[in-house]
Amino acid sequence: MRQYCPVGGKGRPPPVPIPPTGEEKKMGKADFPAFVPEIDLLDQRSWLWRDGVQLQAIFVALWQLLANESALSEASSKGLHGLLGFDGKIFLSTVMPDELIDKLRTEDYFNLIENLRPDATMVPDNYTYTDVPLYQSWSQTIRLVSFAKDFLQLDVPAIGLVKGANLLQMDWAIRKQVEMGYVSFAMPARELFEEGILDDFLPYVIRILKRSRKASGMNPELLLYGVGQRLERYKGISYSNLSWFLRARHGEYFKGGLYYDLEDPAIRFEECYCDACNGMMPQEIIDLWLDDKERGIRVLAVHNFLDLSRRRK
Ligand SMILES: [Zn+2]
Repeated sequence: MRQYCPVGGKGRPPPVPIPPTGEEKKMGKADFPAFVPEIDLLDQRSWLWRDGVQLQAIFVALWQLLANESALSEASSKGLHGLLGFDGKIFLSTVMPDELIDKLRTEDYFNLIENLRPDATMVPDNYTYTDVPLYQSWSQTIRLVSFAKDFLQLDVPAIGLVKGANLLQMDWAIRKQVEMGYVSFAMPARELFEEGILDDFLPYVIRILKRSRKASGMNPELLLYGVGQRLERYKGISYSNLSWFLRARHGEYFKGGLYYDLEDPAIRFEECYCDACNGMMPQEIIDLWLDDKERGIRVLAVHNFLDLSRRRK
């Protein structure tokens, strides 16, 4: 007995490829620096440019505004540049808690983006868990690609997302976005990193993007979002996190892309000649901290930012 197939079997003509119309959108590139600090919209101590630090670009998290009505209304009326007084590039992160993800439709994002006027925005985040039935992560992956298609209508460059509960989903989501003209990609990777499984995904993602360069003629860029340290074994990728600041608030000190407690003997008595430390040792930052905690945090925050920014991609 033959298997029933509603669209015919052997006799069915092969699918006809749709030729490019020449009107496909060329998505602008974000041009990520090696490190893009995320800042805390509600904590001005993370607004480094106010301390005279030169910054090319920052990430701000949309969820912080959605969770704070007065900040959202101020940001919506002034735009993010007006609110922050920052004239570098502002990238909008859509990575947010699940309960917020479900609330926003395409029109909501468009209204928010029109008011906030970032220089680029991630396409909307989704949630993909590895421990739920696969149809759930597939429907979320399809939702991601469908949002990415809607976001082609925006005037600001959109940053594609690398997400999926498995490699097949990530591969499909990336390829669809590349076909649509996306060139800048962010991979929210905090959970994967913390669960110790990022290495199962990242080399593959880098390979898919490289391969897509051949196929599309474009040169895609990848930013690892939310991983709080540098991973030496991967070259050519950018990073964004808030760890540089969160760790500074907890008295933690970055060196060579890894963080240490200020009292850690491995770094405690080593002088640092960055623009924040000017020859100070971590021990002297401890002394400063005891004397004036706010100044200690500021020095440490700038030091941490400079350490994470130091290396090339
Ligand atoms: Zn330093």
